Amino acid sequence: MVLSPGGDTGGMSDESELPEIPIVCPECGTRSRVPFPDVEEAVAGHNERLHDGDGVAAVDPDVFDHLADHVAADLGLLEE
Ligand SMILES: [Zn+2]
Repeated sequence: MVLSPGGDTGGMSDESELPEIPIVCPECGTRSRVPFPDVEEAVAGHNERLHDGDGVAAVDPDVFDHLADHVAADLGLLEE
């Protein structure tokens, strides 16, 4: 699977469109959307900066379930 920034591959764009993924942090009470390619980094960075590396922030569970079959495994997000 190729992730192309901008998603401009010409022709059909449905599969190359990158969804924005909601990230929620119950401890901070924050919810933010980041482009899919940045999700892993955003979650890790937030937890590192604010929670000493604890896995507090995470992808919104609802969306996660929806995406899991398609992409989450590729990012290793299912390992925790
Ligand atoms: Zn937080």
